[in-house]
Amino acid sequence: MRVTSGVIVAPAPEIVSTRHVERVALGAFPTPLERAPRLEEALGGADVWIKREDLSGLALGGNKVRQLETLMAQALAAGADTIVTTAAAQSNFCRTTAGAAAKLGLHCVLLLRGVPGLPLDGNLLLDRLLGAEIEFIDTKDPYDPAVPQQLQGIMDRLRAKGRRPYLAHVVGTAGAVGAAAYLPMAEELIAQWTARAISPAALYVTAGSGLTLAGLALGLKWLGWRTRVVGICAQMPASFLHPLVVQRANEASALLGLGTAIAAEDFELDDRQIGPGYGMATAEAVEAIELSAQTESLILDPVYTGKCMAGLIAHVRAGRWRSEGPLVFLHSGGTPTLFAYGSDRLDQARAGRQA
Ligand SMILES: *Cc1c(COP(=O)(O)O)cnc(C)c1O
Repeated sequence: MRVTSGVIVAPAPEIVSTRHVERVALGAFPTPLERAPRLEEALGGADVWIKREDLSGLALGGNKVRQLETLMAQALAAGADTIVTTAAAQSNFCRTTAGAAAKLGLHCVLLLRGVPGLPLDGNLLLDRLLGAEIEFIDTKDPYDPAVPQQLQGIMDRLRAKGRRPYLAHVVGTAGAVGAAAYLPMAEELIAQWTARAISPAALYVTAGSGLTLAGLALGLKWLGWRTRVVGICAQMPASFLHPLVVQRANEASALLGLGTAIAAEDFELDDRQIGPGYGMATAEAVEAIELSAQTESLILDPVYTGKCMAGLIAHVRAGRWRSEGPLVFLHSGGTPTLFAYGSDRLDQARAGRQA
């Protein structure tokens, strides 16, 4: 079965209805697929292609743009005039949400984990420039019960002012919609591989919540593609995340009526690049960032894509991929966080100290 719904041509804010989930056109799709010859040479021969999802356009792009096309369609359908969401202070999702809201003429309120005195850099600077109203919550824990309480307070306050707020918080089963939003990326990749007559051995994807991984694993299997989907964990241990990704992929499959079942062995997860923790730069990630920049002018970040590239490099150096066909690396964006780290934190990480 081959569908061609991966490309959105309608201008925002028209709602694009496809065979899949409803979307508002916000990004620049299809994103490019590029070969990385100098990186290949540095890695000693493995063919490497880069899917440039970092070039998806909206407010400096990244993988969250596809998810937001879906969330914003739901918000508009619900008649919302204000988008509310929450995450860490340097969240790419929050920055892209603020961008989507600005582009659609909606108000945006962000509840960010952190304290009001944080330096206005990286994504936080962009949140401000994009016009989002920012509130802080003094916790590091995304599961802190104070988070939903404060979100509820924001929703109540907005409603009391006569606004129609929409909570764009992709947790629990709402994650199925998030995973489904990545299915068109699988279709887009297959169209690009077919056009270039390549049959990749593996697709490397950073796994945060695992929704991108779930959507891609589902899409590739549904379309009968055997490319190995390799998730490199940036946040949660593989033992915890693996069953969640299976569950989200199967929920997305049911939501879209695909009739494809995802099993644990349909993808793999490697959590050896997390280092001291989520958002902490590692020596391996800094090496991957520098190598990608200096060979391909490819700018990665220390939270997600640097760790994913470090995982790919470690697998190549261990001799895992020799003659099976090219490797595809998903550049999922996140570049703005680089500017919130600064060179001293990267230097510390390179020297093996906690950063
Ligand atoms: C959010 C994010 C990811 C992780 O995507 P999930 O779908 O949550 O796994 C990877 N890379 C970047 C740059 C991100 O912002």
